[in-house]
Amino acid sequence: MKSKTPTSTPAREKVLEGLPVGAGVAIGVVYRHDSRAVVQVRERRISATKVRSEQHRVLEAAAEAAGRIEALQNKAKRMPGAAGEELGYILEAYHQMLGGSRLVRGVQKRIAEEKINAEAAVMKEIGLMAEAFASMEDQYLAARMADIREVGRRLVESLGKAAGGDFSDLPPNAVIVADELSPADTALLDPRRALGLVTMLGGVESHTAIVARSLGLPAVVAARDLLDHAENGVPIIVDGSTGVVIVHPTAKTLSRYKRHRTDFTRSQQSLKRLKSVPAVTRDGFRIGLQANIELPADVDAAIAAGAEGVGLFRSEFMFMNRDDLPSEEEQFSEISKVVKQMGGRPVTVRTLDLGADKLGAAFKMTPGPNPALGLRGIRFSLSRRKLLLMQLSAILRASAFGPVRILVPMVCTVDEVRQVRRMVNRLVAQLRRRGTKIADPIPPLGIMIEIPGAALAADALAAEADFFAIGTNDLTQYTLAIDRADEQVAYLYNPLHPAVLRLIQFSAEAALAARIPVSVCGEMAGDDRMTPVLLGFGITDLSMSATSLPRVKKRILELNLSAISGRVRRITSEPDAARTRALVDELGNGD
Ligand code: PEP
Ligand code: MG
Repeated sequence: MKSKTPTSTPAREKVLEGLPVGAGVAIGVVYRHDSRAVVQVRERRISATKVRSEQHRVLEAAAEAAGRIEALQNKAKRMPGAAGEELGYILEAYHQMLGGSRLVRGVQKRIAEEKINAEAAVMKEIGLMAEAFASMEDQYLAARMADIREVGRRLVESLGKAAGGDFSDLPPNAVIVADELSPADTALLDPRRALGLVTMLGGVESHTAIVARSLGLPAVVAARDLLDHAENGVPIIVDGSTGVVIVHPTAKTLSRYKRHRTDFTRSQQSLKRLKSVPAVTRDGFRIGLQANIELPADVDAAIAAGAEGVGLFRSEFMFMNRDDLPSEEEQFSEISKVVKQMGGRPVTVRTLDLGADKLGAAFKMTPGPNPALGLRGIRFSLSRRKLLLMQLSAILRASAFGPVRILVPMVCTVDEVRQVRRMVNRLVAQLRRRGTKIADPIPPLGIMIEIPGAALAADALAAEADFFAIGTNDLTQYTLAIDRADEQVAYLYNPLHPAVLRLIQFSAEAALAARIPVSVCGEMAGDDRMTPVLLGFGITDLSMSATSLPRVKKRILELNLSAISGRVRRITSEPDAARTRALVDELGNGD
């Protein structure tokens, strides 16, 4: 490494920018990994008499690939802490995709109908599924595309192609540089040998990003032009906190980043100590910190981060990756699992938030002219009452195992809340008649405040709902007329816009006046810069991804809430975005 320090080539320093996904600083040498080499397959026509044997090959390959995944699962079990658990869930998902799933069935069907070889059928089927996922509005869902491609790659490998490279020959101080890195590849990384990773593709919510974070690896994704500049063996710095990647750093840059690295290590040590420390401000206000989860498997990470409950369980994830609907029994079993695992801590289950471009195919929905303004969330559920009744019944039954709250997404009118409440009450009566155990008192029924109209009518809605959960992601999208998924207008997507802040404040005040609990569960809740503003609005419960929780807790411990409350109004009347940012930072720093 020393011989490659860039003092002799200062002119070649190249700074690239990507998306930061794993905090920390890695200083090492480039180790390039090509993830795509093994998935180039050629399509061959087969005769009708060969269809059966080709289908049989697929089943054998799926079993073989599943066996290799089982070996990785065993390895994951031996990994320390959250990283092993996180990987275990991902590998389990791969395992399920390989066993009699839509993928395997789809490949079999394609071989029969198109009379093509198994490898080509796998790649076609994967392409179709990945396309459907990529078009989804939700970043997390879109990022599942990488998982599907990875399963396809493994299946093709098992059909007879050479196995992909692993990381057994890593040089010391290696920083992995790749076009794309699958979660399973990431599973092979030993954090004692790999210092960090950078990829050209991938999203902030991808499983690779999650695994990198769990392993504690500094990581950056979406670093364009990366492979043009990072040849094997050259010095590289990855700043996973800012998304900056520097190839051939100068001596001056190098010493600056060594200082950053030391500072980061120190702050991590102090964060670890906070897990069981209650989130109390300096002047004694107790703040509730809960976790958002997408799948039951996310619960472990929530508990490990010290979450006091699940503030948002995005139930639509139970409907993913399949073309049939989960039965009430299946939903009941999944939700109960979460409730039991949380061991007495509250679990807020949101009813299906489908619509727009989310999962349209599975439900055979016809998108309207403007899907984001069409049959979404509770509007969709109320148009499929049987589906909603089934889901409500599963949630009610799961309430027998611990505290549960029911959360309704995309509420716009009081009538929608009343309709759901009537359905809940009817179900409660039915279940009790049948002797089915449910919580007594029954679970509270709350609503998401994520439509500007709902925020402005928050006082009326507060009279109907048992609690509010403010969804700042959609609230920002709808208030500013900025599509969350459209990068052309992404520069205008600003939750600090005074209109968004005023709507949050108005909703919080309406809830407080009606004496119902109010929390924030959009991304803003996990942004520690925003913590003083939300607390200043009187919000005392925040729900966020488990990884953001310790940082937000640290911020809370530093704050003096009494000093903030009087000054927060200035922010909501500031029209200039840059000035608002400065005011937000001042707010948190003042005594
Ligand atoms: C939100 O809109 O802020 C929210 C939490 O819901 P989702 O991100 O699932 O749309
Ligand atoms: Mg939303």
